[in-house]
Amino acid sequence: MPRMDDPAAQPAADLERRILDAIRRGASMEDIADIKESDEATPEAAIRALKDGNARFFSGQATRPDVSANDRRAQIMGQTPYAAILACSDSRVPVELVFDQGLGQLFVVRVAGNVVGESGLGTLEYAIRHLDVHLVVVMGHEACGAVAAALLPEERVAEEPEHLQNLIRRIQPSVQNMPPIRDKKARMREAVLNNVRHQVSILRSQTVIQQAEASGQIRVIGAYYEIGSGAVDFLIDEEDLRP
Ligand SMILES: [Zn+2]
Repeated sequence: MPRMDDPAAQPAADLERRILDAIRRGASMEDIADIKESDEATPEAAIRALKDGNARFFSGQATRPDVSANDRRAQIMGQTPYAAILACSDSRVPVELVFDQGLGQLFVVRVAGNVVGESGLGTLEYAIRHLDVHLVVVMGHEACGAVAAALLPEERVAEEPEHLQNLIRRIQPSVQNMPPIRDKKARMREAVLNNVRHQVSILRSQTVIQQAEASGQIRVIGAYYEIGSGAVDFLIDEEDLRP
């Protein structure tokens, strides 16, 4: 961590002062986002940053970004994350660790099966409209229990509590009519990918997301996290994303 009399620390100190001045004048979160651009300024740069961070993670070279008192203090006034990520709550899929990202860089929604629901959608709309993120990622993962539950027969699903049933039913449409795949692991992977594509298509049916994608502010992409290797596969091209 550079000291404050270190010339390299000056731009950061200047920025902090400008943000503090803005706060004193009653600046909103949007005003602060105008002063401090996020670390990545385009969808393409955001994708590259996530790919690079994941490569550091799975190759054992994670930098585990600094979370010193200074870094925390610099963020009190506002946040400028560059990507919003809808991921599963699974304890093996900690998003910031998987992408080797630090405080203030990712805006994360985590819910079992990475399904789009009312609150999650509102959260993503906030990230797009007020935080000016440049990328929205729906990330599924290997061995997802929620997706596995959506593959169970109806009588088994009906045994679950009401709200859990509702969640499973948000995944079911994506795994119905799957081609027969004998290998259980390959079948699960296909089901998870189908669910990612399904949730992406739901997001893309929403006006705020459509407008942000049409204007070039954001791209909506999918991703698949492999627990065993730590590697993330990205679904970026339209043919990869088609449900
Ligand atoms: Zn899961």
